[in-house]
This record gives sequence, structure tokens and C-alpha cells, in this order.
Amino acid sequence: MRPIGILGGMSWVSTAHYYARLNQMVAERMGGLHSARILLHSVDFASIAQMQKDDDWDGAAALLVDAAQGLERAGAGVIVIAANTMHLVADQVAAATKLPLIHIADATADKINAAGFRRPALIGTAYTMERRFYVDRLVASGLKPVLPDAGTRGEIHRIIFDELVRGEVREDSRRIYQDAAAAMIAEGADCVILGCTEVGLLLNQDNVAAPVFDTVEIHCRAALNAASFETGEKYV
Ligand code: GLU
Repeated sequence: MRPIGILGGMSWVSTAHYYARLNQMVAERMGGLHSARILLHSVDFASIAQMQKDDDWDGAAALLVDAAQGLERAGAGVIVIAANTMHLVADQVAAATKLPLIHIADATADKINAAGFRRPALIGTAYTMERRFYVDRLVASGLKPVLPDAGTRGEIHRIIFDELVRGEVREDSRRIYQDAAAAMIAEGADCVILGCTEVGLLLNQDNVAAPVFDTVEIHCRAALNAASFETGEKYV
């Protein structure tokens, strides 16, 4: 397996989860004392969050491009942006190195299509739900995403930044997320994308009444498959 280059820290809470899941998946697949080969560049999320707010996507792209090039020099075999939102600049990051960038929305769309679902509810930051970079990717793969109404999108976004990226889990917020998922299912969604890497803190297959697609799980498996191309282990 080649080392997986992770652009992380967006937030550190979800990057810690990526780190744990990548290692657990390798241990389950390979047994013994095996663990994942990982190179991590963890950013200061305050600067990224500020650039998101200021609409300075070029600045954010430059920061991630620089970090990705460092991971390439350090020997990474693949690049992963360990967040959904920052895939807004995925094309710039992908163009900056020779390494494959494992796109979180494409990996998720592939899983949903393979499972035979068509209308995924999307829960993520306002950027992910409202800027076209993510939804268009799902649509291009043949899916018809269902979004929360504007008021609910605002609440979901607020909870991500005020609570989840700080590692705070509140039961009243879990209820808001469950209600948001239920409303989209009532509207015709046939599955739910946890389209923000911290949403798994609140939602999972036990509290959502439709199949859940957790982007962290899917992204980790896709990254491991790509990083194992020489040895051919499969992480399904
Ligand atoms: N981890 C996040 C995501 O998956 C949100 C944090 C951010 O805005 O970068 O979108």
C-alpha cells in the first residue's frame, strides 16, 4: 500500500475519525498488526473557515495546493481532502500534483448508484448544499439530490460550525438533524448522504429511517482501494 496523503484539520474532529477508521479498516482487512500508511497535513481550521466565510476560495485553494505538494514530496501515493466542503477547490488541488485525488462526492455517488438508490437527501454545510460544486457532481452521476429547505439548511450549517467541528454533541441538535432527514424522506428521498464529515456525530443508520451513506466511511474505503492498487487489496 502507498501512503495516503490526507489534507486534514477540517475539522480535526473528523480527521481523527478518518485516522481511526483508515487504521481499523486495514486491521480488519489485513489482520495481525497491520495499520494504514498515512501522511497527514493538518491545517489550522480557523484560517480555512475564515476564507470560506470571506468567499476567498482561491486563498483556500492555494493553501491546500501547497499542502498537497508537500504530501507528494513526502511520498504520498494518493491525495484525500478529508472534508466535503473543501472539494469546492478539488480541481485546483488535483491539478497541482501528479497524484490521484480521491473525490468524496464521486466515491459517494458511485456507492449510491451501485446500491440502486436515486434520490439522496443531502446534509452538509451551506457551501456543500448550496454551491453547485457538490450537487452537480451527484446529478452528473445520474442522481436526483433532495435538499433541506432554506431555514433548515441554515440550522444544519450553524450546528456544524458552532458545535460539531468543536467536538460538541447536543441531543437537541441531533433531533434537528433527524427531523431534517425525516422531512426529506417524506419528500421522496430514498437514502441520506451524511455530506459533512462531522455529521456522523449526530446521525447514523440507527436513527435515520432510510439507508445512510456516510461520506467518511465511503471516502476512507475509496482511498484505501486507490492506495492499494499495486497489491490489489479490496476495501468494499
Ligand atoms: N468537515 C466539513 C465537511 O465535510 C465541514 C467543515 C468545513 O467547512 O470545511 O464539509
